[in-house]
Amino acid sequence: MPVLEINNIHKSYGKIKALNGVSFSVPEGSVFGILGPNGSGKTTLLSIILDVLQADAGSYLWFGEPPSNEQRKRIGSLLETPNLYHYLSAVQNLRVTKSISGRGSIEAIEAVLEKVKLYERRNSRFSTYSLGMKQRLAIAAALLGSPTVLVLDEPTNGLDPVGIAEIRELIKTLAKDGHTIIMASHLLDEVEKVCDHVAILKKGELIASGTVEQVLSDEDCFLISASDSDALYELMSDYPGLIRKKQTPEGLELYFSKAEIAPANINEFCFQKGIVLDQLTIKKKRLEEKFFELTGGLHQ
Ligand code: ATP
Repeated sequence: MPVLEINNIHKSYGKIKALNGVSFSVPEGSVFGILGPNGSGKTTLLSIILDVLQADAGSYLWFGEPPSNEQRKRIGSLLETPNLYHYLSAVQNLRVTKSISGRGSIEAIEAVLEKVKLYERRNSRFSTYSLGMKQRLAIAAALLGSPTVLVLDEPTNGLDPVGIAEIRELIKTLAKDGHTIIMASHLLDEVEKVCDHVAILKKGELIASGTVEQVLSDEDCFLISASDSDALYELMSDYPGLIRKKQTPEGLELYFSKAEIAPANINEFCFQKGIVLDQLTIKKKRLEEKFFELTGGLHQ
């Protein structure tokens, strides 16, 4: 049974459609990345599944059941910068969190501080922590009460490379310990390094979901060019099934779901519209390059 099933969620803010019929499932024990550029609807989706926001339409199930307070206790979350007090130590801060949330115990505080590798610094003031340590303490707070699932919104945002590496290691350790992790990220590289499953959002629409391997190998990339590259770019904008396109010095890259489009179809389409292609090749990409392309290429 999936830990979370999201069914056809819609959400608008006035005229802005933040989510437009998003559905996917999160398997138990996975590290699930919700990937998309800024404004693609990630925070809105996390807010809905955490019951902070209400969807306009659609539903979701936690552990196979409609959301309830009981279910909520099994979910730890870190949506925004948490309320941690600068003049208090890690232990004191977690005591405050514990009494507000009613989760965890005094013994649990020490255990979560060990988990996030802050035990040695447990009595230092929060204000003396690096950004990475602050974020790890926030994750420790989310871990009080031993949640089955941890939901994190952009957990490495604003951190330096060392802080980023520490958080990524921590997420992997938490997954090994049996937590299911659901995390939003706008970094493909991060999803590749940390997650085993991914859902890609673009302008509130789900464009792919599955294991990272599946999603990555699920695309064909064609490289085309013609003498009038602007006209070609325009023409291909409406090509059926196109996931995204990118103008590069070598030509226009077109991305489709695996085996959906034959190169001859593209050639014929362009010819019929009066553009003669001077190049049409199938592009093979290394995994890392492909991730990078997606990050830069998910045009809004
Ligand atoms: P980011 O990483 O920048 O937070 P995101 O992928 O999390 O992006 P959301 O924050 O969910 O995306 O925003 C989705 C869309 O909804 C954006 O166009 C955003 O401007 C809009 N939006 C989000 N919150 C509100 C709000 N309270 N009122 C109006 N529009 C909003």
